[in-house]
Amino acid sequence: VKDRKLIVQIIPFENRRQILVTHDVTETERIDMMRRDFIANASHELRTPLTVINGFLEIAQAQPDLEQSVRMGHLKLMIEQGQRMQNLIEDMLTLTRLESIDYPLRTEQVNIRNLLGQLLQEANALSGGRHKISLDIDGPDIDGNTDELRSAFGNLVTNAIRYTPDGGHIHIQWQQTAKGPQFSVKDSGIGIRAEHIARLTERFYRVDKSRSRETQGTGLGLAIVKHVLLRHGAVLEIESEEGKGSTFLAIFNSTHLLR
Ligand code: ADP
Repeated sequence: VKDRKLIVQIIPFENRRQILVTHDVTETERIDMMRRDFIANASHELRTPLTVINGFLEIAQAQPDLEQSVRMGHLKLMIEQGQRMQNLIEDMLTLTRLESIDYPLRTEQVNIRNLLGQLLQEANALSGGRHKISLDIDGPDIDGNTDELRSAFGNLVTNAIRYTPDGGHIHIQWQQTAKGPQFSVKDSGIGIRAEHIARLTERFYRVDKSRSRETQGTGLGLAIVKHVLLRHGAVLEIESEEGKGSTFLAIFNSTHLLR
């Protein structure tokens, strides 16, 4: 059988006959491989900041008389790396929770105006005036989980800021479309080459590892976004052009979510 891995068992039966039992293990092996990849990636991601922290601790022990300003510099770097480990662990826990089948979606009426208003404030704080950020709301409220949607929309907005150079524009929009209510974030940032787009929601997939690290990214953000949207019956669409900018759209199509 093409592209499938089968385990064949031959079991002796009466009268010198035999029974042939086949098990299709393709899916089990695929899940197993994904799990191994995840653990390998996560361990690597945690080891890097830990190596930095351990390095500075060894310096502190070997050179107790270091100048105060140098020591403060080392402490600052250690705190940053500790924060990176914490972000990563929190994202891993969030992802695991979202993926577990027995984690039900608790819904309420989501006040979109409040939610996006808060997001805009946070975005401006993160940008520190380096970008022009606008918000436009012209669509209905929906049923959903406010915290989960805040984290998904927040991730998309944070990415737009991270991957848009100073002076760029970011437009956040909530609107009713023919397909359903839609959240979108359009940025005038670095953009993404076509061949990467389909893989962006894979855990730890990054176009540029060093840039993502610099911006405190964990590489799990879009995987979390995808899962939250899936639970809400919504889909993520990505339009992008390298050097020009990207638009991330979350399209809610199920009418039962409408208020
Ligand atoms: P990270 O924590 O690395 O940002 P994400 O899962 O949020 O992880 O995003 C995965 C990758 O997708 C990023 O590393 C980056 O290469 C790319 N990406 C995400 N959003 C944007 C954007 N708005 N513009 C350009 N590239 C983006």
